Amino acid sequence: MARSQYAGGGRQASYAGHGTIEMTEAPAAAPGPGQVQIRVAYCGICGTDLHILHGAMDHRVRTPQPIGHEMSGTVEAVGAGVESIAVGAPVTVMPLDWCGDCPACTSGTQHICQNLDFVGIETTGAMQQLWTVPESIVVPLPEGTPLTHAALVEPLAVAAHDVRRSRLTPGETALVIGGGPIGQLIALVAARTGAHVIVAEPNAERRAFAARQGAIVVDPLNEDLAQIVQERTGGAGADVVFEVAGLAATALDATNHARTRGRLVMVAIHPKPVPIDLHRVFWRELELLGARVYEREDFDRAVDLVASGSLPCDEIISDVVPLDRTADAFERLADARALKVLVDVQN
Ligand SMILES: [Zn+2]
Ligand SMILES: [Zn+2]
Repeated sequence: MARSQYAGGGRQASYAGHGTIEMTEAPAAAPGPGQVQIRVAYCGICGTDLHILHGAMDHRVRTPQPIGHEMSGTVEAVGAGVESIAVGAPVTVMPLDWCGDCPACTSGTQHICQNLDFVGIETTGAMQQLWTVPESIVVPLPEGTPLTHAALVEPLAVAAHDVRRSRLTPGETALVIGGGPIGQLIALVAARTGAHVIVAEPNAERRAFAARQGAIVVDPLNEDLAQIVQERTGGAGADVVFEVAGLAATALDATNHARTRGRLVMVAIHPKPVPIDLHRVFWRELELLGARVYEREDFDRAVDLVASGSLPCDEIISDVVPLDRTADAFERLADARALKVLVDVQN
């Protein structure tokens, strides 16, 4: 879809080149045919946004450009022909824009389209007061869903997709290696799938969070992870291992903790090739699964989970900062204790 379908206005926090967030202001045009203009309420910041700020994705982002793709808001105006959504409705956005024509799209995997535009990276994003997007990517929220919580739908959809890719079933044991924001959300979704969850994470505060949610927690630097997994699984190993830490060492170690015919989901983005113990994959008939972003059913599950009120959303949100302090929000996120920092876009 054309990038011209995306526009915005009002006050904006724009990425303006390596390390710089610039506050700008622009008038917002009325939405065109098929477009929805959203008054953005909250926008979460994630590792991808941090990578953008650090200049690592300059080949994909134009400058200056508002970024942000984990958002919630209400519909401000709709263009001609928009019928699925009404002014005033609470919404979020599934930030994937696929071509519809490539082999990935025509075989039903549009979310990993070979020409995929990620909204908020290749296009203008949600860190602006008014954001215009095509109707096709707008996802309605149940009335009454707190808009702070709804800003967690996108990362939660990542977790829902990872868990669905793993084919995790009730009663199975899931090992989550890495208790950062996505690891914690995977642990929450896995627990709500009925699995026993073990989280390996060196940071004590993150371990404490996972433990409060009912997970068995392990400090992999000071405890014997292999032994604990063995004890908890009667010597079998975990049914599913999620590699979320993104380190060469954890990727290499992940195969050690899976039971025979166990499934490993490679969640973390490893920018460079890293060694995997393929002998272990052979010996135990392990399955190695890739997982990238989400499909609509994952997004819908994430909306349901948030709307159910059963997730510790307020505990996940470490901080909410006004739009003018977006740069501080990035710094806050770099602090490993924070799970999720939201920008309050209207304030
Ligand atoms: Zn994100
Ligand atoms: Zn495509």
